[in-house]
Amino acid sequence: MSIPAVTEPPRPPEPFPWLCPNCGQADVWPTIINYQAKMNYEGRSYEFEVRDLEVFECRKCGEQLFNNDADRSISTAFRATLGLLQPEQVRLGRKALALSQKELAKHLGVAEESISRWETGALIQSRVVDRQIRLYFQLPAVRTLLGAGETPDFGAAVQFSVE
Ligand SMILES: [Zn+2]
Repeated sequence: MSIPAVTEPPRPPEPFPWLCPNCGQADVWPTIINYQAKMNYEGRSYEFEVRDLEVFECRKCGEQLFNNDADRSISTAFRATLGLLQPEQVRLGRKALALSQKELAKHLGVAEESISRWETGALIQSRVVDRQIRLYFQLPAVRTLLGAGETPDFGAAVQFSVE
């Protein structure tokens, strides 16, 4: 008889107020803000607003703390600003085609790790890759061609009509 694995429950967050890592005062409280974000993508800087974002703010010094949920909300808003697919759209598209991450990675010519990171939101895909994924999801002919493996002639010359 084996001993069942014990999973520790997540530690409950400490009650407010939290200690401020900046000024050391116990005066950090949750608050809802409209966050003005500035982020870089492919050599350009973008400014955008994330409305109704929950952050944790020190009432003494104004220091703002962001948790994972806040980071995710900012990342989602940034993708929307850039017009990129969201992580769940990549995941759902792959699932709809009944492909593993490994299979999709092979067809797109990327590392399996990349698919995983796009789907969890850990990595923002490049614009070129975003368009490649959209074409792959949208067009069966693209899936057939990319799924066929290495075909050196594919795309090496312009084709004007579909045979
Ligand atoms: Zn403070």
